[in-house]
Parts: sequence; C-alpha cells; structure tokens
Amino acid sequence: MKAVCWHGANDVRVETVPDPKLINPRDAIVKITSTAICGSDLHLYDGFNPTMQKGDILGHEFMGEIVELGSGIQNKHLKVGDRVVVPFTISCGSCFFCNRDLWSLCDNSNPNAWMAEKIMGYSPAGLFGYSHLTGGYAGGQAEYARVPFADTGLFKVPEGLSDEQVLFLTDIFPTGYMAAENCDIQPGDTVAIWGCGPVGQFAIRSAYMLGAGRVIAIDRVPERLQMAKEQGKAEILNYEEVEVGEALKEMTGGRGPDSVMDAVGMEAHGMGLEGLYDKVTQAVRMQTDRPNVLRQAIVACRKGGTVSVPGVYTGFVDKIPMGAFMNKGLTMKTGQTHLHRYLRPLLEHVQNGDIDPSFVITHRLSLDQAPHGYEIFKHKKDNCIKIVLKP
Ligand code: NAD
Ligand code: ZN
Repeated sequence: MKAVCWHGANDVRVETVPDPKLINPRDAIVKITSTAICGSDLHLYDGFNPTMQKGDILGHEFMGEIVELGSGIQNKHLKVGDRVVVPFTISCGSCFFCNRDLWSLCDNSNPNAWMAEKIMGYSPAGLFGYSHLTGGYAGGQAEYARVPFADTGLFKVPEGLSDEQVLFLTDIFPTGYMAAENCDIQPGDTVAIWGCGPVGQFAIRSAYMLGAGRVIAIDRVPERLQMAKEQGKAEILNYEEVEVGEALKEMTGGRGPDSVMDAVGMEAHGMGLEGLYDKVTQAVRMQTDRPNVLRQAIVACRKGGTVSVPGVYTGFVDKIPMGAFMNKGLTMKTGQTHLHRYLRPLLEHVQNGDIDPSFVITHRLSLDQAPHGYEIFKHKKDNCIKIVLKP
C-alpha cells in the first residue's frame, strides 16, 4: 500500500510499504477513505521527537471502512464493510484509567511504556502515527491501518453523513470541545484563546456552545483570524500588531478573561529535542522569538480563573510564571483528549446540525500530494488551515 512516511525534519515521503496485518485478536484493519494532517503532526515534522524513525507512517486523524476483524472482537455491532471513524488515542477500555473515562491515559495501549518511563519519568498512552514514545503504531495517512482494541477504538458512522462531516471527530473537534469544557465556562464568561489553527477554531465554537458570552481569539495569520471572526464570531487580536496582555486587560475592564486557553503548544516555547529529555537535563532549548503563550495566558487570566491547555508539550516547560499562577489561585486543566468520551455527544451535535465540522477544511489533496500538504500547512501558505488527504 501507499503511506506517508517520516524521514527526518521537514522530510515526509509517500512510499510503498507492506499492507498491515491483524496481529492481535482485538485488531481490525481499516481501508482509509479520508485522513487529515494535524498541528500535532507538525511537532514530528519539525523534528522535535527523537524517537521517530525513518519510514514511520504518520497520521492519527483517519476514517474508513472495516475490511478485516480479529477473532476476539465480541462487539456484534461491528462488521466488515462498516464505515467507521478512529479515535487518535488507543485505549484498552478496561484499565484503571479507561474505567474512569480517562481514555487518553490508558495504561495498556503503549508497548513502549518502559522507554517513555526511562526518558520522561511517565508513560503516555498509545497514539496512532506518533513516534515510538507512544507505542510506535503505524499511522493513518495511508491506504490501510491496523486498529488495536478495535472493539473500543472504532466508532460506527450513521448513514447519511459525509466523511468530511465526521472525520474531525477523530481528534480536533473533541479536542477543541474538551479544551473549552476544561475552561469551566459559566454563562456569559469571557474566554481568551491563543491559536486560531484547527484546534483553536473548534475551541471557539465549543466555548460558545458551552455558554461563553465572549470569545477573544489570538493569532497572527490573517485568514485564520478572519475565520475566527467571521465564522466563529470571536473578537480577534493579532499578536504582531498589539500587546496581547494590555489589549486583553482593556477589553475586560482591567479584570482579565475568566478563562484562557493555549491552543498553540510547544512551538511557541521553542521546545526542542532537549525538552523531551527533561529528566536528565531539566532544561529546554529556546529557539524562538515568538511570545511564550502559556506565560502570556497565565498572566492575562483573571484571578481565580482557569487555564486550559490543549496545546501539546513534551517534557519540561521552562518559563512558567509560577508566582502569578499560585498567587492568582488559578486552576490548570490539560491533557490529550479523552476521545471516546466525546464521540457520541459530539456526533449528535453534527446530526442535529448544530455544527458542520467541514467548515475548517481549506485543502483536499491526494495521498501523493502529502509532502506538499505538510509544507503549506506548516508555513501557512496558500491560505491553508486544514488539509484532508484522500487515499
Ligand atoms: P496549528 O499549528 O495549525 O495552529 C497553531 C496556531 O497557533 C497557528 O495558527 C499559529 O499561527 C498560532 N500561534 C503560534 N504562535 C502563537 C502565539 N505566540 N500567539 C498566538 N497564536 C500563535 O495547530 P492545530 O492543529 O490547531 O493544533 C494546535 C495545538 O493543539 C498543537 O500543539 C497540537 O499539537 C495540539 N493538539 C492537541 C491535542 C490534544 O489531544 N490535546 C489534539 C490535537 C492537537
Ligand atoms: Zn491531531
């Protein structure tokens, strides 16, 4: 089959690789019909993860059709030919964490947990196409993928919905939604969101769905700010044009937003390879002159407010204003999204017509065009906001 393979920083290639096979009784094989490139893929594309190996298959936002089911799948509701979306987090469905609805913290889905423990002092759950630290699973920017724990990891798509309406249930819609939920929004609250990428766009809409009165969105890319404003109904700030902290103060009568969200992640901290080795070095390499988002967010938040961090970090984050955090009595909520928790309720929002997640798509490309896709998505060229690949 064809697949998008990682070969180093800024180097992805479409290659012919062996088709995936069933390995465990709870596996399924899915023939992929749509798959997307995520901001999280850019951390790998940037070369920030030293446990990527040449040839690793990328991609964790994908859906398609079941073509093979393992012998151990008890779920009578799954059968060959079903159309399914695949949550990007791999979860066994029966460990301490899965039982507590904390699916992205599953203890049984990362066969390389020992290595992660050794490097970072903790072990993340298994994720598709996301380095050997998270299990070394082949990703979904390919023609086929093996889905482990398929009885919990496949979600059947009801009739009448297109791929583009449900594809983002695999990640960015639930991620934006959980990030907004993590803001503990009270009716009428003001929420400030750093980052108007795909995650930020879904977070804006989710914040309003959860009762926010005002959303203030921050970025520098004009078409992203425009989407936030025109379709998302957010007030916008361009961080290259205004001093964000001052502007937020002014817009909230001096008090600050009730909650703040970092939907940017580690690139705005210059996190590099060393960041991953925090246990050893306790330091990160600073390599950016972008404003430090988490720092800005903590300082801007009103006293007693909440800091939500969907943005991805690996390792130790330097430059956290802990004094402000402590003395303002803030709460921080973060994490990889507990996908399985949100699939059904968010699908209902799609079915009810509350939201059509396809609004975020700006580019539809073939799998062969993936290298071009990564290039324009990373550099925000060509008005690119979200790319869907059609294997
Ligand atoms: P993206 O890279 O397309 O978007 C990031 C946006 O942040 C860009 O528009 C960029 O211009 C903006 N930005 C950069 N520096 C900024 C600054 N200083 N102030 C304000 N904005 C700034 O990525 P995305 O797909 O929207 O993902 C956003 C983050 O969410 C990434 O870190 C990604 O890894 C993470 N993510 C987390 C989860 C999860 O489960 N928690 C899931 C998916 C993605
Ligand atoms: Zn993603």
